[in-house]
Amino acid sequence: MDKRQEEGIARLREIVQASKKMVFFGGAGVSTESGIPDFRSQDGLYRQKYKYPPEYILSRTFFDRHTEEFFEFYREKMLCLNAQPNAAHYKLAQWEREGRLAAVITQNIDGLHQKAGSRAVLELHGSIRRNVCMDCGAPYPAERIAESSGIPRCGCGGVIKPDVVLYEEPLDQTVLARSVELIEEADTLIVGGTSLNVQPAASLIDFFRGEHAVVINRGAPARSMQGVLFIDGKIGEVLSAV
Ligand code: NAD
Ligand code: ZN
Repeated sequence: MDKRQEEGIARLREIVQASKKMVFFGGAGVSTESGIPDFRSQDGLYRQKYKYPPEYILSRTFFDRHTEEFFEFYREKMLCLNAQPNAAHYKLAQWEREGRLAAVITQNIDGLHQKAGSRAVLELHGSIRRNVCMDCGAPYPAERIAESSGIPRCGCGGVIKPDVVLYEEPLDQTVLARSVELIEEADTLIVGGTSLNVQPAASLIDFFRGEHAVVINRGAPARSMQGVLFIDGKIGEVLSAV
């Protein structure tokens, strides 16, 4: 920890103590310390070489046209069933139990906030934990996708699709509306581990009108907020030091 980080953490500690309705808004950077690669970091998925760009593989068009290759990529890169929560997930769960944090709004699909004990979790982009048959709607656990090979199929013959939002697919409007409400009502908004490049999720922070805005990220995200406290660092390290 350098001096700037320590000063930022001291300030954040005061903010947390004064807050009664914090909201955390996060992205893939929250889970890199759990060993799940993000998209845009140095060792993120977008820097690795594939036959297709990851944005295309994770689109609905690709899913429909190259279903088998989609699942190959998905099993290898997205389905991290053994990953464990890190200090950031645990601290947020603790704040919720203490009654300081109203909700976690996440772009992640890994389910690690719930695994750490958070209950109010809004998953803007869905979850690898939910999977449904595209024909009959039967639900399946993520293990079913992991253990199958090729295209995972339901007993009825339908394709089992993970409930994750692919590019070209709309977000769940109920989750989105509830997220807006929570951010509008928050006294403190902590944004962390997100490049704020993916829309419409990134624009949610514009609804914040509370007192304290904090960003914890490795490098500055693509957008910012007025009067924000920016702490440049690893979110698990920063939050465990608060
Ligand atoms: P992103 O890859 O665009 O940005 C991640 C940001 O986090 C970067 O600015 C990076 O510098 C920062 N970061 C990385 N590790 C960090 C750490 N330990 N501490 C602090 N900051 C750190 O990710 P995004 O903004 O979430 O957008 C990409 C999309 O990728 C999202 O829609 C999400 O659904 C999806 N995604 C999810 C997962 C997951 O569920 N774990 C993983 C990869 C991608
Ligand atoms: Zn079925």
